[in-house]
Amino acid sequence: MSVDGRLIYVAGAGIAGMTLALALAKFGATVVVLERNASLQEAGAGLQVSPNGRHILNHLGLERPLAARSFEPEGIDIYPFGARRPLVTLELGQVMRERFGAAYSVMHRADLADVLHKACKRFANIDILFGVRAYDVEPHARGVAVLVEEADGKTRSANAFAFIGADGVHSRTRTDLLGGPAADYSGMAAWRTTIDEGQFPSLFSRNHTTVLWGPGYHAVTYPLPTRGEVNAVLFTRVKAADLVREARPTAPKLPWALLPDRHFAALLAAGGRNWTYWPAFTVETPVWHKAGIGLIGDAAHAMLPFQAQGAMMAVEDVAVLAPLLMAADDAAPALARYADVRQPRVRKVQAISRSNGAAFHMEWPFTLGRDAVVKAQGPQGHLGRLDWLYGHDAAGSVDAPQPEKPLRTGVN
Ligand SMILES: Cc1cc2nc3c(=O)[nH]c(=O)nc-3n(C[C@H](O)[C@H](O)[C@H](O)COP(=O)(O)OP(=O)(O)OC[C@H]3O[C@@H](n4cnc5c(N)ncnc54)[C@H](O)[C@@H]3O)c2cc1C
Repeated sequence: MSVDGRLIYVAGAGIAGMTLALALAKFGATVVVLERNASLQEAGAGLQVSPNGRHILNHLGLERPLAARSFEPEGIDIYPFGARRPLVTLELGQVMRERFGAAYSVMHRADLADVLHKACKRFANIDILFGVRAYDVEPHARGVAVLVEEADGKTRSANAFAFIGADGVHSRTRTDLLGGPAADYSGMAAWRTTIDEGQFPSLFSRNHTTVLWGPGYHAVTYPLPTRGEVNAVLFTRVKAADLVREARPTAPKLPWALLPDRHFAALLAAGGRNWTYWPAFTVETPVWHKAGIGLIGDAAHAMLPFQAQGAMMAVEDVAVLAPLLMAADDAAPALARYADVRQPRVRKVQAISRSNGAAFHMEWPFTLGRDAVVKAQGPQGHLGRLDWLYGHDAAGSVDAPQPEKPLRTGVN
C-alpha cells in the first residue's frame, strides 16, 4: 500500500508535535498540525538534550542547527545544602559523546522549538495551523473524520489515517477523545528564569551545569552562551490549596534552614523578582490510544522533570510511532504496538524522576548516607547507572523502517 500523501493530523505544535510532523513528512505523509496558540511561544527556559533524544533529532537532519544553538557542559557540579565545594562533578562533554555517540547538550527551549519549526517549514507536506479555535475527531472504519475551526473562523473537514494528540500535559485528546484522566498535581512547583551571564554569581562554574540540593527543594543552573544567559530553575513544594498560578514574574520563597546556604542565596539574589512559576503536573495512565487516535509526549506521560527527560521521551515516542504508523494498513494496531513498546520504558523513567526528587530533597541526617553514596560512585558514577537511559536506541526497539538519512531539508 502506498503511503505517499497519507494524511495524519496532530494536535499541538510543541516539541512532540513538531518532531512527529518532521518524521512523518520524511516518510512521505501529509501532516496537518493544529496549534491553539497564535504563534510559537517563548514559554519556559532551558532544556537538557541527552544523547538518547539527540540521536533521533540528528537523524531527522537537525544536527547542525542544534549544535549552533546549544552548549555542551563539561560536567555537573553537585552541591549538597551548605557545601562550599561540589561533592562531585559528574563528567559530561566528550565523555558522553564517546560513550553514547551523541552530545549531551543544553539549550533554550524556544531555540529547539525554532529549529523544529524552521525544519517543518521546509516541507510542503507539513501544514501547521496556528490559532486553531476548535476541532472534533470521530473514528470510523477507515481512519478518523476531523473537523477543524481555524483561526479566521473557517472550517475544514478531512478523512485522515490517524489523529495524534501531542497537546501537552492537560491534553484534551487524552481526556475528551480517549476518556483518559486529568493530570495530577505533583505537590511541586518549578520557578524558572534566565539571568544575564554578566550578572551571574562567580560562585558557579561558567561551563558546568550546577545542581544545588536543599531540604525539600533543589535548583539547577546551566549556561546558555549562544544567548548570553544562564538558565536557572528552582523546585519547591507548594500545597495544592495554595496553587494559584501567578501570571506576573515574582520571587520564590524558600523555607530557610537555620543557616542560609550561600549558593541558594546567590542564585535567588541574581534572579531578583524575574522568576515565573510553573506548577508541575504528571500523567500516569494506560490510556494512550483508541481506534485511530493516539497520544505522544506529555499528553501521554508528563513526568517530574528531575531526570530532565520529558521532552526526550516525546522525541523517543516519535522514533517508535512514526515508522509503525507508516508501515501499517490500519492505525489502530500500530498505536497498540507503539503503546506496548513505549509504556514500560516511560514508566521506568517516571519512577527514576520521582526517586531523584526524594533524594535531592532529603533532610539531615539522611543526607549523610546519600552524600556518601554519591561521593563513592565518583565522577563517572552516572554513566554505568544510566546506560539504559542515555544509551537507548528507541528507533531500534521496533522492527519498522526509519526515514532515510540524511533527507535534505536545507537545515543541515
Ligand atoms: C522546569 C522544567 C524543566 C524541564 N527540563 C527538561 C529537560 O531538561 N529535558 C527534557 O527532556 N524535558 C524537560 N522538561 C519536560 C519538557 O518540557 C516536556 O516534557 C516537553 O516540553 C513536552 O513536550 P510536548 O510537546 O509533549 O508538550 P508541550 O510542550 O506542552 O506542547 C503542547 C502543545 O500543544 C498545544 N496545545 C495544548 N492544547 C491544545 C489544544 N486543545 N489544541 C491545539 N493545541 C493545543 C500547546 O499550546 C503546545 O504548543 C522540563 C519541564 C519543566 C516543567
